[in-house]
Amino acid sequence: MTDLQKLVRPNIWALKPYSCARDEYQGPEARAYLDANECPYNAPWNRYPDPLQRELKARLAELKGVRPEETFLGNGSDEAIDLVYRIFCRPGADNVVAMAPTYGMYEVCAGVNDVEYIPVPLASDYSLSADAILAACTPKTKVVWLCSPNNPTGNQLDSREVDRVLREFGGIVVVDEAYGEFAAGQLYRTRLAEFPNLIVLNTMSKAWASASVRIGIAFASPEIISLMNRVKYPYNISLPNQQTALSLLQRMSEVEDWRKMVLAERSRMERELAALPLVERVCPSDANFVLVITADATAIYNRLVGQKIIVRNRTNVMLCAQGLRITIGTPQANDILLEALKSIKLP
Ligand SMILES: *Cc1c(COP(=O)(O)O)cnc(C)c1O
Repeated sequence: MTDLQKLVRPNIWALKPYSCARDEYQGPEARAYLDANECPYNAPWNRYPDPLQRELKARLAELKGVRPEETFLGNGSDEAIDLVYRIFCRPGADNVVAMAPTYGMYEVCAGVNDVEYIPVPLASDYSLSADAILAACTPKTKVVWLCSPNNPTGNQLDSREVDRVLREFGGIVVVDEAYGEFAAGQLYRTRLAEFPNLIVLNTMSKAWASASVRIGIAFASPEIISLMNRVKYPYNISLPNQQTALSLLQRMSEVEDWRKMVLAERSRMERELAALPLVERVCPSDANFVLVITADATAIYNRLVGQKIIVRNRTNVMLCAQGLRITIGTPQANDILLEALKSIKLP
């Protein structure tokens, strides 16, 4: 059983959160709101938004099959990532363990918070070893970062290995499922009841096609969610962003159509890229991008930029030498890339 108090920074456990006007009065619609120093004109933008985003959270939780009290909304997943450090990791004292390579923000936020970051390389086929992760943990390790499907390698992790980390590590395990909608395997947000130390990250930025709206989602036990709510900025999601997100939730059949088109294009791109002479290997993808190992990633990247086609050069990332990360776009955008790759002749 997870003893949350042992994992949480003592100052955070003792924190008395800022109580904003919208928290203190939560009764029925009032006749006059004279409590928050808002200007009475310019409705609806004059009013502070709901600090707990209750309407959006309720609909989102229902869609995702999770309870609202197990749901946190942040200004992108990046807010949730930073909050995990601020809640659990004492600066200059604690450390975190993360699979490598993976999403760069876990390490950036560790640096910002003065927390030691211990990367543990995946195997050469990008598979996760629970033994390697567990062996890297020390008594000061508060958090393990896992990303599945992983950015930039594209693969979903073996759930037997992830389960073992969740069961055998005594601290918090974050499973970032930013690309979960593109994967066939089981998703960890359905398993919150089994693992009190689990935090699952989701986002509206990828399969939900709303990166500009900046809504990241964390699912965890109500105790962990309540800590996140106490530490976050009071009005962390603006009204326009809450409204835009709510209107997308009315159009989920379109979102599903987009997802299917991306998946169909992913299969086509995996096939067509693998047939190109410049491509040595297309890594199997459970996400909306493919990592492609090429003859010369930097040369190809520069030639593509010359043709105004931008992909991500990952050649300097651990285990990704000569790797280009290619996002799946519209069929037209994908064709533009394929044509360009066919035309490139390396010396
Ligand atoms: C893109 C991405 C996110 C999303 O971040 P937002 O701040 O929600 O846009 C989170 N995790 C990973 C691994 C990603 O690749």
